[in-house]
Formats: sequence, C-alpha cells, structure tokens
Amino acid sequence: MWSHDMEMKNIRVRLTPSTRTSYAIQIKSGLLVSLPATLASAYRGRRIFIITDANVAAYYASRFHRRIVQEGAETVLLEVAPGELSKSHAVVHALHTKLLAYGVRRDSVVMAIGGGVVGDLAGYVAATILRGISYVHIPTTLLAQVDSSVGGKVGINHARGKNLIGAFHQPDGVFIDPDVLHTLPAVEFRNGLAEGVKIAAALDGGFFEYLERSSFALRKGNTRLLSQVIHTAVGLKAGVVSRDEREQGLRKVLNLGHTLGHAVESATGYAIPHGYAIAAGMAAEAKIAVDMGFLRSKEYRRLVTVLQTLRLPTRLPGSLNRKTFLGALNVDKKAEGGGTRFVLLKSIGESMIGVDVPQNLIEAVL
Ligand code: ADP
Ligand code: ZN
Repeated sequence: MWSHDMEMKNIRVRLTPSTRTSYAIQIKSGLLVSLPATLASAYRGRRIFIITDANVAAYYASRFHRRIVQEGAETVLLEVAPGELSKSHAVVHALHTKLLAYGVRRDSVVMAIGGGVVGDLAGYVAATILRGISYVHIPTTLLAQVDSSVGGKVGINHARGKNLIGAFHQPDGVFIDPDVLHTLPAVEFRNGLAEGVKIAAALDGGFFEYLERSSFALRKGNTRLLSQVIHTAVGLKAGVVSRDEREQGLRKVLNLGHTLGHAVESATGYAIPHGYAIAAGMAAEAKIAVDMGFLRSKEYRRLVTVLQTLRLPTRLPGSLNRKTFLGALNVDKKAEGGGTRFVLLKSIGESMIGVDVPQNLIEAVL
C-alpha cells in the first residue's frame, strides 16, 4: 500500500448532497510550473483573482501571476500580510472592495496561493462575494496540503475565538506541489506534521505505523516520504469529507486534539503555533482517554513517542492560565450546544466522537 508510484496522484472528493458532485485534488511534484497554462486554459475568458500573502508572493505567487498573464489570462494579484491576523473582517472587507473595484462577476474565480490562512481567507471571500464564486486552492504549507485545503471549510477569526465566522465552500480544485515545501520554515513544517499525525491517529492504524517507521526521515524533510504522507492524509480526509461534508457526525473525528488545542491557542493569545497546540492537545486528550479506560497506556506512549520524534510538544504549556484556559473551553462548549464534547482515541487509528469528559479529568491534565 505504501510503495506505489508517486509520479502523479489524483484524489476525488465526491459530495452527495452538494450542488457540485465532485472535485479533483492533484498532487504532483513540479505541478506549480505547469499550472499557469492549465488554469489559464480551464478558465479562459473568466477574470481571475489571485489572493496570496507577501511571503508566498515573493517565493511563488508573483511568478505564477506573470506566467498566467503570459498565457493570456485576465488576472489581478492581491496580497495580504502574512499571519493569522489577516483572517479578519477588516481584511475580508478590503478584499471585497478590491474585487468589486476590478469588476468581479459571477463567473470570476478566486485562486488562493498560500497556506491555511490564505486558503481560509480567500475561500471565505469567494464564498461571500456575489453570494459565492468559484475558488481554487494551491496550498503551499504542509499543514494546508495535508489538511486544511481539503473539505471546503473557509472562514475568519473573531475576537471571541478562532474560525467562528465562516462557511462551507468547496473548491473547484486543489493543486498540491510538494516541491514548494523546500522553502517552508521548520516551525511551519512541524505544524503540518502534527495534522498528519492527527489524521493517522484518528483514522488509520496502518498510516500511523508508517509515520512511526519514518518519523526520523520525515523530520529531515525527505521529499519522497512527504509526498506519500500528503497523498495518504488527503485520501483519508477526502473519504471522511465525502461521507460527511457538513460535519454532522463522522467528520468530527478530525477534531482530535483540537478541543484542548484550540483552548490552548486562545488562552495563550495565539502565541503557540496551531500544530504545536494540537500536538499538546492530542497528547493530553489521549491521557484523558487512558484515565477514562478507553485507551491502553501502551498506545498513549506510541502517540507521545511519534510526536516527540517529530519535535512536537506532548504537554500543555506550563504557563497556561487555568481560568483563561477553562473559559476558552467554555466558548467551544457553547458553540457545540452543551457539554464540552471530545474526540477520544479508543486505539491508534480508531476514535470516538462526542465523548463527555468529567471536569476533574480536564483539570487533572492541566
Ligand atoms: P498555515 O498553513 O499553518 O495555516 P499560514 O498560511 O499562516 O499557515 O503560513 C505560515 C507561514 O508560512 C506564513 O508566514 C506564510 O507566508 C509562510 N509560507 C507559506 N507557504 C510557504 C512556502 N512554501 N515557503 C515559505 N514560506 C511559506
Ligand atoms: Zn487543525
């Protein structure tokens, strides 16, 4: 299962109840080079709005823009500041204004070139302008390539919490080129690996074993292994999204580590990178699963070992303010309409959703 040819991978996300029935995710080394010609011809005659951030513009998006213009496309390049703060109403408003000024139409298309921040933001702009226009994502961080670019969740943050404003807006296509990871800072790289571990732990014991075997090489950025990880993670996630697009049940498994992880992020003012927060959240939630008698401690230790090998944290930060943290958990609780519901591991590769965790066990991991 793990040794097939890595040349070119296509995965389909099939959506039963949605207006669009499916879309393609292409994974290929060097894809970014051929993509301007492909997309210019696919969207011939339609106005293209490229949304990116300043870092990605310098590395990739400006060149992509020049090339797609050479291919005859009518294209505007819009740049936002890098970082989570761009996922705001102010930036959405500024982008809406630009799109309207440049004559956006119902058949226009937004192309996001960047990480999860750019994808969520540009996707939300595409979902809301003129009640929704086409959207394409070219994810450039490992986190976006393994996780956030698949599934159609788009949105921005609110002072009350992360990703509280948003929509489901499925892209026309997702184009993944693992080569762009060469320029990714180490922290961002580990962020992505954390989501990879999450997908494996939540859904597929075989994939988790693969990560155990290759964690050392992965940490060193072995491209072949990375492509394999991206392909497997995307395949697993696409399968889940196809069965539960709107997260009414099954899709919640992908929130493994995120209940505590989000509270950590919020309580620390987003000073801790997302992947680090959810790694610590996964380990702490696994500890709770052990305490509740669902998970064997041997499996808990396997999770901790993989995270440690990948240089990810396995404990909640010591500096965490108890009250702020529990308050942040409560925001999640309200959004879910009831108790703080957890996704807990039953074993590596198998998880349960909607578990009510007693308050004393939550406080015990603090
Ligand atoms: P995430 O995907 O984790 O949500 P962001 O979209 O915030 O993260 O991207 C993380 C950081 O990495 C940003 O500063 C962004 O500009 C930068 N970045 C994104 N892709 C690349 C890349 N391929 N090479 C170098 N830096 C990148
Ligand atoms: Zn996440």
